[in-house]
Amino acid sequence: MLVYLDNSATTRQYDEVTDLMALVAKEDYGNPSSLHRLGIAGEERMKKARAEVAKRFPGDGELYFNSCGTEADNTAIFGTALSKRKTGKKIITTKVEHPAVLEACKRLESLGFTIQYLDVDRYCNVSADDVRNAIDDDTVMISVMTVNNEVGTIMPINEIAKVRDSINRNIILHTDAVQAYGKLDLKNINADLISVSAHKIHGPKGVGALYVRDGVNVAPFMVGGGQEKGFRSATENTPGIAGFALASKMAYENLSLRQENMLKCKEYLKKGILAELKDVTVNTPENSVCSVLNLSFLGTRGEVILHTLEQDGIFVSTGSACSSNHKITKGSHVLNAMGMKEAEITGAVRFSFSEFNTIEEMDYTVQMVKKAVTKFRRLMNYR
Ligand code: PLP
Repeated sequence: MLVYLDNSATTRQYDEVTDLMALVAKEDYGNPSSLHRLGIAGEERMKKARAEVAKRFPGDGELYFNSCGTEADNTAIFGTALSKRKTGKKIITTKVEHPAVLEACKRLESLGFTIQYLDVDRYCNVSADDVRNAIDDDTVMISVMTVNNEVGTIMPINEIAKVRDSINRNIILHTDAVQAYGKLDLKNINADLISVSAHKIHGPKGVGALYVRDGVNVAPFMVGGGQEKGFRSATENTPGIAGFALASKMAYENLSLRQENMLKCKEYLKKGILAELKDVTVNTPENSVCSVLNLSFLGTRGEVILHTLEQDGIFVSTGSACSSNHKITKGSHVLNAMGMKEAEITGAVRFSFSEFNTIEEMDYTVQMVKKAVTKFRRLMNYR
C-alpha cells in the first residue's frame, strides 16, 4: 500500500489539471503579449484563470501570478520595503514563519531594516496584543502566516488586522497563506497582501500568486517587459496558470467535503496512534487546519521513523520539506519557538492529509507507526 501523507510539502497534481496543461501547451501556446490569434488565445486563458482564482480572495484587490509561494512572499516583503523605505524601516513578523519570509527579512536586516520577530505560545499562536505592543512609528509592515506549515496552527490574522487598523491603517499587513489556500475560505481575510502557491492544492509546481489589495503600493520585484500590469514581468506560464485555476476551482467547489475527509483522517490517525503508543505528544493544537497533524514520539528520532515508514510505503515529513533541502541540520525553528523540549523536537513527525487519503490508509499507518516506534524504542532501550 502507498500512503502519501506529505501533502503540506506538495500534493499529487489532479489528473484533470495535467490534461488541461498539456492541452494549453500543445494548442494555446501563443505568448499572451503577441498580437496574433495564438497570442489572443493565450491572453484569453490568462483572463479566465485570473477570474477563477480571484473568486477565492477578498473582492477589493488584484491577483498577480508568479512562480511560487516563495516568490509571492519575497515580492510582498522586498516590494513593501522598497516602496515604504522613506516612511519607516521596521517590519514585524513571527519566529515561526516559513524561510521564504524569514530569509527575506534577514536580508532586509542587512540593508538597515529592523525586524521584530514575535514569540509564539505553546500552541504556535501569536498574540494580537504582542503585535499591538510591537507597532511603533517606524513600522511599515506586519507579516504573519495564515496557517503554520509544521503544526497547522491557524493564526489570528483578522484580530491582527483590527489592531493594525486601530493604530495605523497605512501599515501593510501581509499573510503567507500557502498552507491555508484550498483548506480555508480566504474571502474574508483582512490582509493587504496574500501569498499562495498552486502545488499545495493539487496544482502544478512553479506557479503561485500574490493578492494585492487596491490602493496598496508594492514595488515590483521582477521588472522587464511589463507583464501582469507591470507588477511581475516575464512571459506568463500559461499552462501552469491554467492548471492553477482549475486546481483552485476543484479545491474550492468541494471545500467542505475535502475538509471533512482530511479532518476525519487526521482525527482517526491521532486517536489510533495515541491508543496504541505511550509517550506521544500532540504538537498540533485544536485551533488548526484540517490537513496537518504533528506528533512527537519520545525516545525516537523523527527522521528514522520517516525512513522506516517509507519502507512500508508511507510518506511523511519531519517538518517543512521545502525548507530542509533533505538535510536535518538543527531542530525545527517552529517547535523550538513553541518551547518544546529537545526529545519532543527530535521525535517529531508531520503527517499531512489530502482529499485522497482514506480510513483504510489510516488503519495501516497506525500499525506501521506502532511497529516503527516500538522497534526504535526497543533498540534504544527506551523505558
Ligand atoms: N510558505 C509556506 C507556509 C510554505 O509551507 C511553503 C512551502 O512549503 C512556502 C511558503 C513556499 O512555497 P513554494 O514551495 O511554492 O515556493
